Amino acid sequence: MRLSCRWHLPTIGGNVVRVNGRRTIWVLGDQLDRQSAALADADPATDTILMVESTTKLASKHWHVQRAHFVITSMRRFAESLRSDGFTVDYRRSLTLASGLAEHRREHSPERVVAMEPASRHGWAMLERCGVALVRTNQFLCHPDEFAAWAAGRTSLRMEDFYRWHRRRLGYLMDGDQPATGRWNYDADNRQPPPKAGGQQSVLAQWPEPLVTPLDDIDHAVLADLPDGLWGDTPIGLWATSHAEAHRRLDHFVDNVLPSFGPHEDAMLSTNWHLAHAMLAQYLNIGLLHPRDVCDAVEQAYCAGLVPIASAEGFIRQVIGWREYVWGVYWLWGDDYRDSNAFDAHRPVPPAFTGAPTSMRCVENTVANLAAHGWVHHIERLMVLGNLALIAGVEPWAMTNWMWASFVDGAEWVMLPNVIGMALHADGGRMATKPYAAGGAYIDRMSDFCGDCRYDRKQRTGDDACPFTTLYWDFLDRHSTRLAANNRVVRQVRAGEQLSDMPAVRARARDVMAMLDAGTL
Ligand code: SF4
Repeated sequence: MRLSCRWHLPTIGGNVVRVNGRRTIWVLGDQLDRQSAALADADPATDTILMVESTTKLASKHWHVQRAHFVITSMRRFAESLRSDGFTVDYRRSLTLASGLAEHRREHSPERVVAMEPASRHGWAMLERCGVALVRTNQFLCHPDEFAAWAAGRTSLRMEDFYRWHRRRLGYLMDGDQPATGRWNYDADNRQPPPKAGGQQSVLAQWPEPLVTPLDDIDHAVLADLPDGLWGDTPIGLWATSHAEAHRRLDHFVDNVLPSFGPHEDAMLSTNWHLAHAMLAQYLNIGLLHPRDVCDAVEQAYCAGLVPIASAEGFIRQVIGWREYVWGVYWLWGDDYRDSNAFDAHRPVPPAFTGAPTSMRCVENTVANLAAHGWVHHIERLMVLGNLALIAGVEPWAMTNWMWASFVDGAEWVMLPNVIGMALHADGGRMATKPYAAGGAYIDRMSDFCGDCRYDRKQRTGDDACPFTTLYWDFLDRHSTRLAANNRVVRQVRAGEQLSDMPAVRARARDVMAMLDAGTL
């Protein structure tokens, strides 16, 4: 068996439009990459850079302060780095992105304005309305056109099928057209519950503290410019806002964290908020890192014998599989995907997610970590926040919007498929083959939350019943007709039908939902 370790150069992007005369390159806030398709051949002698902070966008959501600070500080630092490279950068704050462009055109009279394809449908429509020439994006490894070609004619768009196609195409951890170790998938090795108390100290030692970069004048200026009313704890420098610091986070991850990335990937612990997660998505999402950089670094560490295959494969699967799949389906499925609501769910986002005190230990811990860092890991997103929203019937777009605003790595293309499709199953199963609904037993198995919770995860009726357990059975009951048609869930639906206490479960579920809405659960 031969494993080829090398730099990967997929055939993507790169049709930059060059014309004589004054050209403006508009760099959007999530395109902060000197090698982006619009900037790669930019010339300080002939090209002017435009960057715009939109005050309307900043006021459009109840953003987590660390999310707002991360994006704006990264933009301002990138503008500084372009100036250091000799560019004239017109960096402005304006009411909207379009008004910023209009002001720029009045003052600079460019003959042509170009930008890289944006990461949202709304952004695309705005750029077209403004007459901006678009350059094919190279920010991902699979362009939406290539994803659409892969999807064409398929009856189902399984992520696993896309991942294997994409891995063959890119060559990561491959020997010819087969996985170098003979296995495509190490998920089964990567779903271990949290370590038991006796072994916890040794495992905790494998989860080094994240790097922190002291705040400087640019950070403080951004914080002073942010509007009142954002939520969450003030930044302390956890999130890098420059390419150099983002690459330092990548190196730290590969050298110190990646060896233990896999096994406890799905575990949740009240004593450790980051475990061995990479926490690199936000850098990929705005251009401070490129997916090729992170996958190459991880593959090279594996080839050097520094990390186990389960960790290397688990990480590369997240990037070239899951992340690129989500990007692909965002563009493939139409604008009306956001209106999906298969379970006819209309409950507001629970106050327990937005600041109301709660006795649900799992929710309390997750929301506290979200407030502190603007980040919690994927299982806390899917199986605590998303799961409760699913089984309680929270309105899908409201939940999407809240998560988009609340996470440092949030973006529309990320959150629409992940929340509407994956967490809430609101698309009726287009993305996930089953709803990720679970009672307290799952959370108890994968966390240490339940032990000191006021609720009893085994009880589904009565005042002490775990809200997750009650709502889980009530969810199966409320949607039994639809769910019984799903062969991955029908067994649980039938089990629910055998419960003799279903009338009491329904009554308790009504009380739980009322308390959830009132913020008294
Ligand atoms: Fe969460 Fe229920 Fe466990 Fe409490 S008992 S921590 S509410 S799953």
